[in-house]
Amino acid sequence: MNGNLRLFRIFGIDIQVHFTWWFIFILLAWGLREGFFPVQFPGFSASQYWFMGIVAALLLFVSVLLHELSHSLIAKARKIKVESITLFFFGGVAGITREDLEPKSEFLMAIAGPLFSLGLAGVFYAIFKLTTDGLWHPIVYYLAFINLVLALFNVVPAFPLDGGRAFRALLHAHYKDLRKATRIAATAGRVFAGYLIIEGLMNFFGIVLLVPGGLWFILLGGFLYFLAGMSYEQVIVKQILSKIPLSSLPRKNLPTIPADLKFSQFSRRYAALNEDVFLIRGKSFMGLLDVHDLRIRPEQQEKLSVKDLAMPLHHMRSLAEKDNAYQALQQMQQLRLDVLPIKKGKQITGFLAKEAIIRRLLWESRFGAQGPVTKVVKRLRRKRR
Ligand SMILES: [Zn+2]
Repeated sequence: MNGNLRLFRIFGIDIQVHFTWWFIFILLAWGLREGFFPVQFPGFSASQYWFMGIVAALLLFVSVLLHELSHSLIAKARKIKVESITLFFFGGVAGITREDLEPKSEFLMAIAGPLFSLGLAGVFYAIFKLTTDGLWHPIVYYLAFINLVLALFNVVPAFPLDGGRAFRALLHAHYKDLRKATRIAATAGRVFAGYLIIEGLMNFFGIVLLVPGGLWFILLGGFLYFLAGMSYEQVIVKQILSKIPLSSLPRKNLPTIPADLKFSQFSRRYAALNEDVFLIRGKSFMGLLDVHDLRIRPEQQEKLSVKDLAMPLHHMRSLAEKDNAYQALQQMQQLRLDVLPIKKGKQITGFLAKEAIIRRLLWESRFGAQGPVTKVVKRLRRKRR
């Protein structure tokens, strides 16, 4: 994902923070300092409230991280690969490769998070009961409260929230049809998102339907509504692309450039081709040059040859002839590359472009009975950085 800062690695999982998180963090610390703590626990000084706000926001961050880790550790125990955990916006997302998750694994993984948050709420509440005053007393109270909120919010059967994933797993086990299960769970997700938005709007005018959430609910509802649609599309995309063998996709004809050509000459000579990826070929060198994100100063362009800027092919990960279009797309997404070589044994047999997969996907979704995939395609086509 873009805009992530890698913090550290634990249990072989990368822990990252999305840039929106910092914004939320400041907003939260400020909100706690201005609202929650002075209202619930009067009598402290301004700097003490700042301390509480910042520490509570940091510990909420740790709580969300632990919640995500609990999902990931269950996943690992069930031999499912976990690559990263990204903390962003309102919570976290575990980068779990959801390759053919069987219902039992998905169910266990999904309920681990809210159960863990519930336990954590209990622990903080116990500490709150044991301490009588001091700066930590209000902080642990807030943490007990917020972890309880996290647990409750995540048991709502609204896909793609945790409860919605568990719900989908049950439907999947019952109907033996992932797509149908996802459609029902995602509809529940949209209904819940709709409720959040309405509740948020009503709160704005001073009316509380079930719980006061205010403007947060409008944001959260909008976000959840989008995610529910997106997740359903992803299931469709996977079903379409998994059935398409790489052999049935057109190969990309890459323009071939001599390896010793200076970049300045190259950029003048090949501008009219309107291509992003080039095959660089020398006597003992073969590589790909992707100019999509390339930035070089003019004086450097005179000095460097295209070979200096190219990625050597023997260093690149490649696709296998027997792969399907879904596997190919996943590889490209992971590596953030738009073109990958296809190999048969050690021999390169051609190149595949992401655009070829997208075009085929659009074709199949337009003329098959699968349903729209526009959200996924829009995201796939968005510039890489
Ligand atoms: Zn969760």
